[in-house]
Amino acid sequence: MVLFKKATDLHSYLEVQREKGSSVGFAPTMGALHEGHISLIQASRAKCDITVSSIFVNPTQFNDPKDFQKYPITLEKDIPMLEKAGCDVLFLPSVKEMYPEGITKLPHYDLGYLENILEGKYRPGHFQGVCAVVHRLLDMVRPNELFLGQKDYQQCMVIKKLIHLMHADERIHIHICPTLREPDGLAMSSRNLRLNPEERKKATAIYTSLVFVKNNITPGPTTGLKNKATALLQEKGFNVDYVEIADAGDLSIIEKWDGVQKYVVLAAAYLNEVRLIDNMVI
Ligand code: AMP
Repeated sequence: MVLFKKATDLHSYLEVQREKGSSVGFAPTMGALHEGHISLIQASRAKCDITVSSIFVNPTQFNDPKDFQKYPITLEKDIPMLEKAGCDVLFLPSVKEMYPEGITKLPHYDLGYLENILEGKYRPGHFQGVCAVVHRLLDMVRPNELFLGQKDYQQCMVIKKLIHLMHADERIHIHICPTLREPDGLAMSSRNLRLNPEERKKATAIYTSLVFVKNNITPGPTTGLKNKATALLQEKGFNVDYVEIADAGDLSIIEKWDGVQKYVVLAAAYLNEVRLIDNMVI
């Protein structure tokens, strides 16, 4: 695996590969890697000649500065993991490299209603920060294929929109990879490292609440079911931001399910200081 810290070096290296006719797959991350991240590397390796990953804890997407400061950094484990998975290139930029002009004046992306629902509502500015960093990374890596996790369902939709705003729909193909879970159902997440043993045991309730919705949904209004799923989480000590049922295609909130519409159930909740999110497409 070749490691680059400077975008110009990365760019020159990848240009040579592209001239040789190699296709480039890209899986951006914020590090503290787990098997979920590695599954993206594997999906890229199966499809592309060259697989690039990046590790960058992006300051502009944290609406809560404490969350940014406490974001786990485990580079000494991440690098061997990527190498073992057969990742070809790791991009490890500094904040200065990503934002040479600073982080105060960023472009604005017109994300429409996606910006203000679900994660957007509870994390103001979050998706603008995601777009700022992903836009820059895509310009630097210029991948043919982009590998994202379904774990961040709304983020996948936002990035799809970003690629559209970049007029790059033909050039960059998105692959949404399934969420990898721990044996008890908890979605793998870098933030799980911040849970103490007692919290870790309780954390599986977020998955249980999604399964509860899946098993109990009937055609008609969805509010009662969402309230019950919320109560399940509260009983376990979660502070719930939302449990929502939305159209799987465009994420519009489903107030009344018709019994056939493909939907996604999404939840976000705090266990003490740690905010966890998960979803299930049904
Ligand atoms: P992050 O490092 O959390 O920014 O995530 C980097 C990428 O890995 C994103 O596309 C995530 O959606 C994806 N990812 C995170 N957790 C999982 C998981 N449990 N299974 C599959 N992909 C994941």
